[in-house]
Amino acid sequence: MRKEERYKGVLNWFAENVPVAETELHYENPYQLLIAVILSAQCTDKRVNMITPALFQDFPTPEVMAATTPEVIFEYIRSISYPNNKSKHLVGMAKMLVNEFHGVVPSDINELQKLPGVGRKTANVIASVVYNKPAMAVDTHVFRVANRIGLTNNSKTPLETERELVKHIPEEQISIAHHWLILHGRYICIARKPKCEECGLKPWCKHFLRPQKT
Ligand code: SF4
Repeated sequence: MRKEERYKGVLNWFAENVPVAETELHYENPYQLLIAVILSAQCTDKRVNMITPALFQDFPTPEVMAATTPEVIFEYIRSISYPNNKSKHLVGMAKMLVNEFHGVVPSDINELQKLPGVGRKTANVIASVVYNKPAMAVDTHVFRVANRIGLTNNSKTPLETERELVKHIPEEQISIAHHWLILHGRYICIARKPKCEECGLKPWCKHFLRPQKT
């Protein structure tokens, strides 16, 4: 199957069957989403959503967060993965937002990546979800699912995957395609044993269509 045909089939299927796809993190403004995405590294959205209400209530702005210490933040986030590093990142991020960005979350991918705790994936999520830019954040789900379906050619790095997806997906669909692939990876094309029987992408999926060993 030609790559164009595969992309067309997959994107049309998602557009028809999953018209709404959004982040499962809870947030009300760009600052809160930035916090939630930093916290979600190596952690489930569900767990992050359990701890953010208290954090958002007590640290409602970058200014308030910048005035506290990582030790204080640690107590709010101790139940998630890597609380030590993440509490340092949150306070450092808030300080930089206040000192260098007038307390406003930047929209530029390179500027976002200057913030402590913000790598390319997080920067792409913010650019795409908050600022509606055609940015493709590649997490472990997007990386795996894109390779399995054959949207990428056994890509070796998230950056390779990002470039390949951005090259083939129409600009207006890049933002939602990120959520389509994440949700598909989270609930259907799961890491250990993909639920191919339930999956609507079978007609285009390279992994499903591969010749079976006899
Ligand atoms: S057919 Fe199977 S391997 Fe392919 S996308 Fe669906 S669940 Fe994943």
